[in-house]
Amino acid sequence: MEKRRKIFEVKHLQKYYFTQQKQQLKAVDDVSFDIYEGETLGIVGESGCGKTTCGKTCLGMVDKTGGEVLFLGKDVHAMNRKEHFEFTKKVQMVFQDPYASLDPHQKVYQIIAEGIQIHKIAKNKKEEEKLVFELLEMVGLNVEHAARNVHEFSGGQRQRIGIARALSVNPEFLFCDEPISALDVSIQAQIINLLMKLQKERNLTMLFIAHDLSIVKHISDRIGVMYLGKMVELTRSDMLYANPKHPYTQALLSAIPIADPDESKKKEKVMLAGDVPSPLNPPKGCRFAGRCQHCMEICKTADPNMVEVEEGHFVACHLY
Ligand code: SF4
Repeated sequence: MEKRRKIFEVKHLQKYYFTQQKQQLKAVDDVSFDIYEGETLGIVGESGCGKTTCGKTCLGMVDKTGGEVLFLGKDVHAMNRKEHFEFTKKVQMVFQDPYASLDPHQKVYQIIAEGIQIHKIAKNKKEEEKLVFELLEMVGLNVEHAARNVHEFSGGQRQRIGIARALSVNPEFLFCDEPISALDVSIQAQIINLLMKLQKERNLTMLFIAHDLSIVKHISDRIGVMYLGKMVELTRSDMLYANPKHPYTQALLSAIPIADPDESKKKEKVMLAGDVPSPLNPPKGCRFAGRCQHCMEICKTADPNMVEVEEGHFVACHLY
């Protein structure tokens, strides 16, 4: 894994906001990770943990407060216009809510063709049409859908249109920001399977944000777990499920329901004490300290650093 080309290098990234009362909110606080060519990195955490802000800051959609984000070696937050235009072709996004992210009165054709036109991908109108129709078929829709308005489609179909739009410029990288959380449970697996198929076929690199570990399990090669603006664990997907190290990851995994009642009884549940503290006033030391059943004195004063506990398995916890 480590020898593969790094698409993104995220180093000590910080994104702070100030509230109207001038309070500082550390949405992303000293987060570092790399994303390698052809892999899907899942980032998981409860709402408010900073995962979407982290993704958006990596894409330059919001300014950073500190740290660095490199895309193929170039600083995302210091690109000139030409570099940024190229970046918007190579990096595309699938949004959380397909109802809000697509204009309901636009024709599907227009939506998918827009990127092709902006980036002059087709030589002529005929080639543009061919590309749009191929994209529709690639995402499980058909040619007849091109002439319809977005409001005629279901949530799952709209998300397929959103995926076709993202792929229209032939990107290298796809940022999927909770792309299934607004969809019916019955549709979620279809969209995940579609994204996995497209990722393989087109050798895409993906960052996949989700609030639930069960969702990212199948799609991710590696998973990062975030808690209150911090990355607390990062490792291969199989390692995380087989041997979670951070007490927060252990609690998240133990909360995933198991269909088999016998297996479910055998599973040890890790109960979390208290609620997620306010990000405006996070605890000193380890941010998880107030909810952790292993909390020690040092945890209340010293913020744990990320350490590699086995090859490719990083944890920020004083237990290691
Ligand atoms: Fe728990 Fe301490 Fe580890 Fe934080 S650093 S997760 S409080 S054991």
